[in-house]
Amino acid sequence: MDYIIRGISRDKKIIAYVAKTTELVEQARIIHQASPTAIAALGRALTLTAIMGKMLKKEEERISLQIVGNGPLGNVFAEADSRGNVRGYIKKAYIDLPPTPDGKLDVPSAIGKEGVLSVIRDLGLKEPYRGMVPLVSGGIAKDLAYYFAHSEQQPSAVAAGVYIDKEGKVISAGGYIVQIVSEINEDIITLLERNIQNLDPPSKMILEGKTPEEIIENIFNQIEYEYFPKEKLKYSCKCTRERAENTLIALGVEELEDLVQKEENIEVRCQFCGKIYLFTKKDVKKLIEEIKNKI
Ligand SMILES: [Zn+2]
Repeated sequence: MDYIIRGISRDKKIIAYVAKTTELVEQARIIHQASPTAIAALGRALTLTAIMGKMLKKEEERISLQIVGNGPLGNVFAEADSRGNVRGYIKKAYIDLPPTPDGKLDVPSAIGKEGVLSVIRDLGLKEPYRGMVPLVSGGIAKDLAYYFAHSEQQPSAVAAGVYIDKEGKVISAGGYIVQIVSEINEDIITLLERNIQNLDPPSKMILEGKTPEEIIENIFNQIEYEYFPKEKLKYSCKCTRERAENTLIALGVEELEDLVQKEENIEVRCQFCGKIYLFTKKDVKKLIEEIKNKI
């Protein structure tokens, strides 16, 4: 089971979130038929967005992470809620790159070192709040740490990773975000930094069988802390036929009339989960009438 553990220092000044996301990232790989490099990128985004979802204060809030770089992968997008539901897509999931000389999946080159990372918070108000920073590495975790530091003035340690076997399957995925939420003394900062530096990459720790509880314990080594019960994370899509209809409506009358001429049935595929919504000629004609009546 994929889950997240939230730990907090006794003085409430350090909060750490550690997530194991192997199953949901493998599910995303299958849905998107993603290449190793593409799922490494999307898996990092899904993991960190799932964690950010757990940082939300209210049930109805949602958060999204969007990375648009100048590399060949195109747009990487993930969104999550506070209940542990996460979903995402990657524009060119078929793109794969050779590994780096040290054998790592080359996410920074696939995303590109120039571009923009956005965090979009939907707090249930009229307009969502969007914070944007330029990419600093293309590796996603470092870029998100930069976002926290510059857009939210929140010092954070961020890591996420995906490990893939020879067949291209995801065999471990996970990540963490550690934040200092109010002023603490230098000695504790030094200790915390050392603890984090001593950690292996998350995908390696999870592959070796370390649990999020054990990783939290390493992060708070020699710092008094407590942690909360595990909370489940899952890949979950909320698409509906109504939303698929809206996608068609957005095409406009002209294009819909053109489709009706050419196609017997029209398929709308959800970009998050791959579910196909089928519309017959009659359905589309009805939509066209509806749009015309509204104008
Ligand atoms: Zn869907």
